[in-house]
Amino acid sequence: MAALVQVEQVHKSFALGTTQVHALRGISLQVHVGEFMAVVGASGSGKSTLLNMIGCLDEPDQGRVLLGGQDVSHLSDRERSQLRNRKIGFIFQSFNLVPVLSVAENVELPLLLHKELEQKARAARVAQALADVDLTDFAVQWPDKLSGGQRQRVAIARALVTQPDLVLADEPTANLDSETTQRLVELMADLNKKRGVTFVFSTHDEKLMGRVDRLVRIRDGQEVA
Ligand code: ADP
Ligand code: MG
Repeated sequence: MAALVQVEQVHKSFALGTTQVHALRGISLQVHVGEFMAVVGASGSGKSTLLNMIGCLDEPDQGRVLLGGQDVSHLSDRERSQLRNRKIGFIFQSFNLVPVLSVAENVELPLLLHKELEQKARAARVAQALADVDLTDFAVQWPDKLSGGQRQRVAIARALVTQPDLVLADEPTANLDSETTQRLVELMADLNKKRGVTFVFSTHDEKLMGRVDRLVRIRDGQEVA
């Protein structure tokens, strides 16, 4: 079966003053449907840059990224945001919830672009996503009333609600204590097993590595064996 994600020889640099920072130096990898995979590396190794490429938040200078066989390296902004909204769920280190929306409204947000879904269908999706992360009782709560672990579960629900092919999580546990971190990773592993959600998350936390199907280690923008 073709890989869900193919990253081929991707390079990415950023201008920093008069110098260039080489964030990715010809990295290649594949992610298969149903995998629970971690990208592990020290701070500055290129994890976020890599996930941003896969998640169509940014584009490579050289090389290609394919999603389900489609080259997504150089799409227009519009194509890129449509693809993100339909195919990819993204979970950020800092949760990125909208403070003036309730938990349920935050989860519903990406569905508002799915014009084919009526209000009732949206509500059913939101209810299911909240149940999946065990937050049914918090639907009408404001995000800032929740703990960090609960907020990140809202972000997971928001990522899942569109039923994406792929969920990317960029250091989702970096702002959580170790017990909450363990529970969050268990939850992601569970959603992977029970719902078949393909997960790629980045971490610099060695303790999480035993939980995953596959580990890709990166250093200085390249995979290390
Ligand atoms: P990680 O997520 O593993 O900490 P990043 O992908 O954020 O690593 O960063 C890789 C390298 O690229 C670092 O040296 C970082 O400073 C640099 N970098 C990332 N994004 C930018 C940017 N927008 N502008 C300048 N440098 C950047
Ligand atoms: Mg990062």
